[in-house]
Amino acid sequence: MLHINKTELQNNPTPFYAYDLKLLRETLQAAAKEAQKHDYHVHYALKANTNDPVLAEIRNVGFGADCVSGNEVKKALAAGFTADKVVFAGVGKSDAEINFGLENDIFCFNAESVHELEVLNELAGKMGKKARIALRINPNVNAKTHHYITTGLEENKFGINFWELPQLIDYLPTLTNLQLVGLHFHIGSQITELSVFKQLCLRVNEIQGWFLSRNIKVEHLNLGGGLGVNYHEPDAEAIPDFAMYFGIFKEFLKPEPGQQVHFELGRALVAQCGTLVSKVLYIKKGIKTNFVILDAGMTELMRPALYQAYHKIENLTSHEPDLRYDVVGPICESSDCFGKAVMLPETNRGDLLAIRTAGAYGEVMSSGYNLREKAPAFYFEG
Ligand SMILES: *Cc1c(COP(=O)(O)O)cnc(C)c1O
Repeated sequence: MLHINKTELQNNPTPFYAYDLKLLRETLQAAAKEAQKHDYHVHYALKANTNDPVLAEIRNVGFGADCVSGNEVKKALAAGFTADKVVFAGVGKSDAEINFGLENDIFCFNAESVHELEVLNELAGKMGKKARIALRINPNVNAKTHHYITTGLEENKFGINFWELPQLIDYLPTLTNLQLVGLHFHIGSQITELSVFKQLCLRVNEIQGWFLSRNIKVEHLNLGGGLGVNYHEPDAEAIPDFAMYFGIFKEFLKPEPGQQVHFELGRALVAQCGTLVSKVLYIKKGIKTNFVILDAGMTELMRPALYQAYHKIENLTSHEPDLRYDVVGPICESSDCFGKAVMLPETNRGDLLAIRTAGAYGEVMSSGYNLREKAPAFYFEG
């Protein structure tokens, strides 16, 4: 059960996001400690959560920033991440976004297509610069997660396919304003079957071997992110098992001597510290189930509507025996539903409900649909 006893939080106008900065700090320290054991470098995937107090904690622990838009690059720099720790991925970087990255001398562009490499080369040339690039290679490894957050299969739009590589490496030396510094892989998100990461390592070893046999050795391998969190038991597993996660790479990935290994974690760092708190507006009797109608909806937290994602829901007010409810929002869409057949203590108008594990891909995806106001964020030390 979420403990937000602070009266100042309870008295906030709902809905709002509440972030436990103590849990965030403990999570970051656990990740940093396990990464340091193997000399691994972590770049935080900004798209999961871009709130200033969250970014400040992440910068303080020494991580870099993994960005997927020009504005994320701008935000990372403004939040104090140094340019030499900023990487920029994404299948559709605009010219303005690329120029912004070049002007600021970011560490690396993770290039996702041959066409993008040509544009990067041209724009770097115009500026009289060399762009550091990593090739994002699609390793065709199944992340065994929801198909909307699977990115490492040939059917996905991300990365350069293996069969494109022979032609590409003959062509790359003619793109003289590019400097190849890394190989990049990111196969998906909310990966809970850890054997998937072993498969990724084995495939990366093969791909690296292919490059080495052609006398191409890069400075770093970037294994992406994707480590999942426990949405069902947020209190039992508040901090993901980073020792196990990095341990798999230690065991199965075979970097070259002196080669750096990078990761881009998002969700695993910030999901559990965030909660969406909402007030019950109405109880409505249905035929098979009763509806709890909240003042928060898919405009505040889109994951259930977008990927049928599960979030644990708790009633912070009532301690009555459990009843079965469908918990829905006020938005004019039938997908605006946080959970079906949820067991909750008998719930009444005015009760506060906590929707847990909402720190990643929650607030950042909020929208103004139905002319909704943006829900505010509050911070506490759990
Ligand atoms: C989204 C993203 C990540 C982070 O994924 P998580 O599942 O949140 O760890 C890392 N790398 C790239 C390229 C991404 O697009």
